[in-house]
Amino acid sequence: MKLVIVGTGYVGLVSGLCFAEFGYETVCVDKDEKRIETLKNGECPFYEPGLQDLLTKHTKDTKLLSLTSSIGEAMSGAKVVFITVGTPTKRLEDEADLSYVYKVAEEIAVNIKDYCLVVTKSTVPVGTTREINTILSAKIDKNKFDTVSNPEFLREGSAINDFMRPDRIVIGCDSSKAEIIMRELYRPLYLLETPIVATTIESAEIIKYASNSFLATKIAFINEVADLCESVGGNVQDVAKAMGLDKRIGPKFLHAGPGFGGSCFPKDVKAFTATAKKLNINLSIIDAVNYSNQRRPEQIVSKISKRFNDKVKGKTFAVLGLSFKPNTNDVRDSTSMIIAESLYNKEAIIKAYDPQAMINAKNKLPQLIFCTSVTEACKDVDAIIIATEWNEFRALDLKELKKHMKSKIIFDLRNIYNKDELINQQFEYYGIGK
Ligand code: NAD
Repeated sequence: MKLVIVGTGYVGLVSGLCFAEFGYETVCVDKDEKRIETLKNGECPFYEPGLQDLLTKHTKDTKLLSLTSSIGEAMSGAKVVFITVGTPTKRLEDEADLSYVYKVAEEIAVNIKDYCLVVTKSTVPVGTTREINTILSAKIDKNKFDTVSNPEFLREGSAINDFMRPDRIVIGCDSSKAEIIMRELYRPLYLLETPIVATTIESAEIIKYASNSFLATKIAFINEVADLCESVGGNVQDVAKAMGLDKRIGPKFLHAGPGFGGSCFPKDVKAFTATAKKLNINLSIIDAVNYSNQRRPEQIVSKISKRFNDKVKGKTFAVLGLSFKPNTNDVRDSTSMIIAESLYNKEAIIKAYDPQAMINAKNKLPQLIFCTSVTEACKDVDAIIIATEWNEFRALDLKELKKHMKSKIIFDLRNIYNKDELINQQFEYYGIGK
């Protein structure tokens, strides 16, 4: 079975390489010719653990994965075509921008020769896959294709494992022929007893947004509980632990912090409510989650600022971690970046360091001072802000760092240190919700 993946970003490249790992002939397409060149030269255009090895394996050894910038060239003989392009938030609106998805659908439409499936893997609002069907139907015979919604749940930082061992596979379609092909495609995972949820196209599209919004709700919820803990001397980590031991709640996504960021949750939460609003449905809980999360980085900045009597002008901060989470170099909607920028705008001096995201961060916020190590970043600073919980920051040589800091203050926005231990080491310590 030959597969084509249109959009070779985080989702497209990981999916393409994992499908090649299953043994399928796969072609990854991207309109960004530079990206295709980089990949053809054997280089991964972004950081994702394990991806470089898979790229080398399937472009050089098995040759199961090929790369092109031409959809027409890729489509010949394809049985399944995945759309994996971006669906960012529209400018000045909360809705998802579907122009990339529809553009790809138009291009696929003029290149279908034999029957194939056109599958939306991008996260798209309910109704989008039907619209793709309409676009295709305007150009080609309806017997030549079926449309399917197959949302992706991988997480950056553990994307390969998530793709190879997902909690479930969702297949939304209304043709049994399409469902059989999709089940065959995912047979390697079915053999590992991965549950497959076959449903309608609409349900499949909603499952993705509802899942992300629910996880976002857990984060926003515990962040607000953390504020309460902080004001009364409670400890949110104890609260979350005890809550999480209740099997109906579960421990995951109950880590208080600076708010959720990244390329998915913020945009998906917004798009979910925007879609519902257009249909006169009020997703008031998700609206509240969005509102709560948008305020969060500013609340953190005021907390930091308050410690300096609201005079951060001229103060120097080491911001450790710029990616939106560890093990990725993705800084899209990263709360670490929002906090660093906000402090900079208040005329603080920001010395930034991240193990992988320096280039992306520099492209977005060139005004920061970028350091090559934790030691360099923490030298002569008034405070350290641990913004992303990279493993590298979990065991800092604080005794050594302390010697070179102006003041011994740590804002641990990810609660990775023990408050008492740091106080014993003469640090002034501020965690979240404790
Ligand atoms: P990305 O920005 O990393 O990649 C998108 C790619 O599509 C880019 O390389 C871009 O050049 C390419 N592209 C755009 N228009 C094109 C066209 N006309 N032809 C060919 N290529 C084109 O995006 P991503 O993070 O991989 O996300 C893709 C989709 O998957 C989004 O809808 C996202 O919400 C969803 N998703 C993302 C993740 C994640 O962790 N990143 C997880 C699950 C789902």
